[in-house]
Amino acid sequence: MDKLYNCDSSAPLDVKLALEANFGGVNKEILADFLSWLMKYMKFSSADCNYINQPEGQGNCVTLTNAWTFPLFDVRVCDPNYWNIQEPEERSRILIHEWFHKYYISQDWEYNHSDKYKDLSTLKQLINADSFATLVYDICK
Ligand SMILES: [Zn+2]
Repeated sequence: MDKLYNCDSSAPLDVKLALEANFGGVNKEILADFLSWLMKYMKFSSADCNYINQPEGQGNCVTLTNAWTFPLFDVRVCDPNYWNIQEPEERSRILIHEWFHKYYISQDWEYNHSDKYKDLSTLKQLINADSFATLVYDICK
């Protein structure tokens, strides 16, 4: 997240592009500063996080669900869907998405694979779990 913290109007390009793609086309330094602070808060908050392995068919682990949670509750990863994801970075993205529900009480306005994702306003992206998770994924991949 140092790349995000050090973002200004001139660099780095990958951070600016990730901000634009996940936060309504905005790449301003003040947004990068806020997100950098928020990511540090999330890293601190999630230091004691746990997850519960939940078999498909139980709770909210339905056919296409990889993980789920409610604010302040442990994350449930869905077995086998979550574990069948081959890319470790994608499994990390999913956990970050759930942590933003758990610790930041963000919503699911749109997922990054939705056609409507890029149409969300910056304000809605700032309360959309997949926006944070995809930003981290895009910067760190
Ligand atoms: Zn979600």
